[in-house]
Amino acid sequence: MHQKPDGDAMGSALGLYHFLKSIDHDVTVISPTNWAKFLDWMPGCNEVLDYDFNPQKSTALLNAADMIFCLDFNSMHRTKKMETLLLGAKSVKVLIDHHEQPAEEHFEYGESDIMKSSTCEMVYDFIVRSPFADKLDLNMAACIYTGLMTDTGSFRFGITSAATHRAVAHLKDLGLNHSIIHQNIYDNFLETRLRFIGNALLNRLEVLYEYNTAMMAIPKRDLLKYEIQTGDTEGLVNYLLSIEGIKLGALLIDRNEERKWSFRSKGNFDVNELARKHFEGGGHKNAAGGRSSESLEDNVIRFKEVIKQYEDQLT
Ligand code: 5GP
Ligand code: MN
Repeated sequence: MHQKPDGDAMGSALGLYHFLKSIDHDVTVISPTNWAKFLDWMPGCNEVLDYDFNPQKSTALLNAADMIFCLDFNSMHRTKKMETLLLGAKSVKVLIDHHEQPAEEHFEYGESDIMKSSTCEMVYDFIVRSPFADKLDLNMAACIYTGLMTDTGSFRFGITSAATHRAVAHLKDLGLNHSIIHQNIYDNFLETRLRFIGNALLNRLEVLYEYNTAMMAIPKRDLLKYEIQTGDTEGLVNYLLSIEGIKLGALLIDRNEERKWSFRSKGNFDVNELARKHFEGGGHKNAAGGRSSESLEDNVIRFKEVIKQYEDQLT
């Protein structure tokens, strides 16, 4: 999975993990970095290796593996410190992913489908189309549902299809308790996170009405003041698109090692292109991310320059 895994990355990896174990494979899930605490409840999560904490064990397992499944990312640089290791690993690499423009040369086999709501939906398809569809159980269902829910914004984004809902119906038939999963993911934060969001909305929001764009730049001192942890900033970018008429939302966070961008759009505006061209990133048409080593202030100035090029698409 990609670094700082989200619900879809962790859900797809663990869903596949439970499935492959059920048909007697020897499987280990490796995350390049730590992850948000609100994923810790997921079945199998306590078995996941964090590469940052266990580089030797992870390296040994990767080099000994017959197969490496790469889930919810499509280019090895998304695994950050694991990139060189993965590119050099002799094992067969299998891609299962739904982002734009896969680095096909990094994988021997796989499926890349931008029409799928989530990598979890693809893992669901993989299981039910296999000869072992009867192995689908509640552990797999809980993991898969997590990514279906988080990547579709609780089934509201346009990418949500009838097949997505049919998959959920199937998981419900198996006995899935979806409402507990929703609570585990969305009602599991500390007070400080809520106050951080309040501060961001009050003091960091900037609306550029002439470009139908809303942005927020979060300085490091906010992250320190509110003791922000991995995962606490997830979802913040979505507030930007909730303003009437706004087509582009951009959130910039000053992380230790880099400045991290999150982009969201409504309708035809392509944030994958924006992120790829100007902010060393990528993703999907309506949700993408990027990075920069420039300062927070320089990024903001550059962003405001860049969107001028897109004026006719934004207005
Ligand atoms: P988020 O804004 O939630 O971090 O990411 C939005 C989407 O863009 C996700 O599907 C994520 O995997 C992708 N993404 C985030 N950051 C990057 C990046 O730096 N490079 C690429 N290629 N994709 C990214
Ligand atoms: Mn995903």
